[in-house]
Amino acid sequence: MIEKKDIRALTKEQLRDFFVEHGDKAFRGNQVYEWLWSKSAHSFEDMTNISKETRQMLENNFVINHIKVDQMQRSSDGTVKNAVRLHDGLIVESVLIPTENRTTACVSSQVGCSLDCNFCATARLKKMRNLNADEIFDQVSAINQESLLYHNHKLSNIVFMGMGEPLMNYNNVLKAIEKITSEEGLGMSPKRITVSTSGIPKMIKKLADDEVKFNLAVSLHSAIDEVRSKIMPFSKAFPLNDLKESLAYWYAKTGSRVTYEYVVWNGINDTKEAINALVKFCKYVPCKVNLIEYNPIDDGDFQQANPQAITDYISILEMNDIIVNVRRSRGKDIDAACGQLANKKS
Ligand code: SAH
Repeated sequence: MIEKKDIRALTKEQLRDFFVEHGDKAFRGNQVYEWLWSKSAHSFEDMTNISKETRQMLENNFVINHIKVDQMQRSSDGTVKNAVRLHDGLIVESVLIPTENRTTACVSSQVGCSLDCNFCATARLKKMRNLNADEIFDQVSAINQESLLYHNHKLSNIVFMGMGEPLMNYNNVLKAIEKITSEEGLGMSPKRITVSTSGIPKMIKKLADDEVKFNLAVSLHSAIDEVRSKIMPFSKAFPLNDLKESLAYWYAKTGSRVTYEYVVWNGINDTKEAINALVKFCKYVPCKVNLIEYNPIDDGDFQQANPQAITDYISILEMNDIIVNVRRSRGKDIDAACGQLANKKS
């Protein structure tokens, strides 16, 4: 038996060609495309304005590899975590985070992760594969529907801070964002989308060359090479100087301020030396700093620094005119917070 093709791997043009080749009008391709993307059809059966014969013909040639939300958990703070089953049975997680004035989707880009950040639960899962563009899009669309259901409004923001390293699945992440921002997809503004990377200089430069319009966040956690490569061992291959240079290139091309994500831990980066190194790093490219609360991942090697250390960070950064926000963590009770996504069931 020939394996049926994933219909959503086709561009609109290819779909139009397919119909012409099969003796139909190119316009049919537009109709089907709309069902697949803006109407998020799960099956050919759903496509009610397409004739039965045509639907059968599509069925004979293609599959729709739609994701399935397997388990949904709701946190006491309103955060929702979806365990999402992919067509080959693998599972990833995505999260809906409601705050006062926005609803954010946090989505995964890979099944597992090939990086080795010691403080992150996802790093302990083997990287199984990259997600396809449609699997990324489906996560967003599922969360958008949940947002409408529970909060009566559409999703307002998207962060690529779920499982995986988005820049190691570059093409599919960009294709998914293209779809999310297009009128045929969800029509969201790229300014409301943030891609978070652990910092791969070559790929940051590629983003700049591609003149992307979304925001960039970098998980920095330390501006001292020796410390950073101890907690994020992969980063030995990407010294801070190279990272800095790629970010300057990003800013020169896009004019978009970079966000540094930063957790302060006891005995790791809670010193004045660490703060001063961060200040120096921040002076290089226009940026802002998000201090993220640490979400423990069980074995106790990392502990959130005491409040005084956080206060010191804030006051020294502010003294140097660097924008700093403190990000409270959400959904901790259902293992939905940053770094806790590890397919653990309740
Ligand atoms: N690979 C990408 C995106 C996924 S991680 C990246 O590294 O940016 C999303 C964010 O959660 C990153 O800033 C990461 O450093 C942070 N994070 C990971 N584990 C965490 C934990 N246990 N507590 C708090 N933040 C964590």
